[in-house]
Amino acid sequence: MNIIDRRRKLSKHWTKQYRRGGPPDKITIHHSATASGSAESFAGYHVHSLGWPGIGYHFVIGRNGTIEKCWDENVISFHTAGFNSGNIGICLTGNGSFSSRQLNSLVELTDHLKKKYAIPVSRIKGHREWSGQRTECPGMETEWVRDKLRLLGTEPLLKSGMKGPAVRKLQKKLESAGMLLKRYGADGVFGKETRQTVIDYQRKRGLIVDGIVGPETWRALLNDTEKG
Ligand SMILES: [Zn+2]
Repeated sequence: MNIIDRRRKLSKHWTKQYRRGGPPDKITIHHSATASGSAESFAGYHVHSLGWPGIGYHFVIGRNGTIEKCWDENVISFHTAGFNSGNIGICLTGNGSFSSRQLNSLVELTDHLKKKYAIPVSRIKGHREWSGQRTECPGMETEWVRDKLRLLGTEPLLKSGMKGPAVRKLQKKLESAGMLLKRYGADGVFGKETRQTVIDYQRKRGLIVDGIVGPETWRALLNDTEKG
């Protein structure tokens, strides 16, 4: 996951400051409602046009999938009226339509934050899903994000030496993604052949090549095999 730390670099109000709270317990997905833009351009707008203490979002995900970190997660910034406390705001640059790299980064980032703070999937919502919000933001349905996070929450990390049904499931997914296990097939044993196949798959998909099946590799496999 490629995260650029912008916490000290973005425009801020010269006197006002956001408060800090406890650990976050919810996540809200936004869009910028603009075709382009970055954390700095949104920060400039929030500070200079709206008079806020700083950018409203904790994270901004650009069109190329790059994640900009804008605040510590316990900063109570402005992004969802009435629900800002304990709420991590994630903004996708775009206007209701997003690149696949952006959406992949969104799933990866929300999965990471959800696990870090033990946030239930039901408390990860699009802006307009919180009550009383008069907005179309983020311009897309977010149930698919929750679906994916539920899946990732149930898939264990797998590596060499492991055995059992989860390994068999992995092997079947690899095969449906076009990576054949020629010698042993889906035998439920994470041996040399499975490890090499995972490595080949990670290389093919441009993932980190480590032969270990974590959320990133699971996510790619589930993506590749759930179509149709
Ligand atoms: Zn919003």
